[in-house]
Amino acid sequence: MTVKIAIFGGGPGGYVAAIRAAQLGAEVTLIEEHNLGGTCLNWGCIPSKVLITTATLLENIKKADVFGITINGEVFPDIRRLMERKDKVVGDQRKGILDLLKHHKIQYLKGTGYIKGKGLAGVRLSEGGEQEVPWDKLILATGTKPSPLPSLPFDGKRIISSNDALCLHEVPQSILIVGGGVIGCEFAFILSALGAKVTIVEALPRLLPLPSVDEDCSKVLQREMKKRKISFFVNKVVESFSEVDNKLEVTIGPSPFLENPTEKDKRPITETVDKILVCVGRIPNSTNIEGLDLLNIQLDQKGWVIANELMETSDPKVYAIGDLLGPSKIMLAHVASAEGLVAAENAVGGKVRMDYSAVPGAIFTSPEVANVGLTEIQAAEQGYQVRSDTVLFRTLGKAHVIGEIAGQAKIVSEEDSGRVLGVHIIGPHATDLIAEGTLAVRMGCSVRDLAQTIHAHPTLSEVIGEAAFKAIDRPLHG
Ligand code: FAD
Repeated sequence: MTVKIAIFGGGPGGYVAAIRAAQLGAEVTLIEEHNLGGTCLNWGCIPSKVLITTATLLENIKKADVFGITINGEVFPDIRRLMERKDKVVGDQRKGILDLLKHHKIQYLKGTGYIKGKGLAGVRLSEGGEQEVPWDKLILATGTKPSPLPSLPFDGKRIISSNDALCLHEVPQSILIVGGGVIGCEFAFILSALGAKVTIVEALPRLLPLPSVDEDCSKVLQREMKKRKISFFVNKVVESFSEVDNKLEVTIGPSPFLENPTEKDKRPITETVDKILVCVGRIPNSTNIEGLDLLNIQLDQKGWVIANELMETSDPKVYAIGDLLGPSKIMLAHVASAEGLVAAENAVGGKVRMDYSAVPGAIFTSPEVANVGLTEIQAAEQGYQVRSDTVLFRTLGKAHVIGEIAGQAKIVSEEDSGRVLGVHIIGPHATDLIAEGTLAVRMGCSVRDLAQTIHAHPTLSEVIGEAAFKAIDRPLHG
């Protein structure tokens, strides 16, 4: 009998699950209330990287003189055309997903999905009307939306979310970014390169304060931000703001997470800006799924759906994947897709487990940051005898050729066996270079395996080869 699978949400979790389930012979219905591609394509990965590409190009053009190119006249960004390009890239990709759904004979319904009962979903179609969708298995992939701060509610104009920041009509003269995590730091580089004066306020002691991000990467990033005149405050929070002469006057005070603040820490700081961009996290699209209480699905206190490694929820016929599972899993597009593949396989009778041990993280700041596996701290906490070996990009010919010498690559390995436990890179093309580290962690390679792998010259990938040579006590250049 053909298994009927309904999927709520057409982001990188939901549409990938749909394709795999259809490949495995299921009759699939994908329900998406806004646009195919979800947050990733419409409000996240892709549009932000279009902006980053222009920001980087602009920075490079301004450095053209160094490369022997004379530019006569002013160089400045045209935001209207940048947004047009962003919309075109996103539109083309959306069409690509639609073509894939047709190719795999997946029924696509544009509308809001809700639960009518066990085995039956309803869809309020965007074009009007309702449709019932019977299912044997249901996959929830409804993702998240930006989280406001109670003291800084979004108004879409002065106090904006990452969604609003991707649709700006002009570059603000000055902007304060609340939250120095991945999204906040990426926007800091974009907006600064496009001409805004940027200030970041982060409540924790460092930028990119994620456990998976190596502390040295944060240090290098902070140094590079200073070079670009991006101001940042760590261990601080926004206490209040008021409108003065068409500007926002923001008061910044000590973070509640800061233990034993000194008098200096407690002294309030005032910044005057045009806009505030709030990037303090995301909230799940779970409680807004009507009728979810008709199924036995366990949510945690914040509304994140609880799922096991088979991606099963507490209702054995319902799977959940992607950002909807919250920060206890990893909130990245490629993780959502990987979980989607697992859910699809299991929904048609498989027993596949999701493996979170080798998930690469890619952060598109300037320079880029990327990581996979354990940091030194995490490895030590897990009881490993840890060794770490770092090589600077400035030791590579290619880094000098392209004029990007800031940054480093670090291999975290197990002292005795040499097994690669983690790789942490900050530097040019770090987000591409991490692929080798991901394979190494996934396959349980040793630093000797990496050192014996020939890396092409002159390439940035040599940084991994060199770090591996160092890790076997045979450094050549570092
Ligand atoms: P989503 O992509 O959020 O998709 C969920 C979909 O479900 C949405 O389209 C929504 O409309 C739909 N939906 C909700 N409720 C219903 C309903 N009841 N019925 C029907 N449809 C419904 N990740 C990376 O890996 N790399 C990056 O570079 C990156 N950059 C990012 C930059 C920004 C600014 C942001 C905000 C995020 C970024 N992310 C990045 C994270 C990435 O976007 C998410 O991890 C990813 O989109 C999660 O996929 P998902 O399928 O779980 O959910």
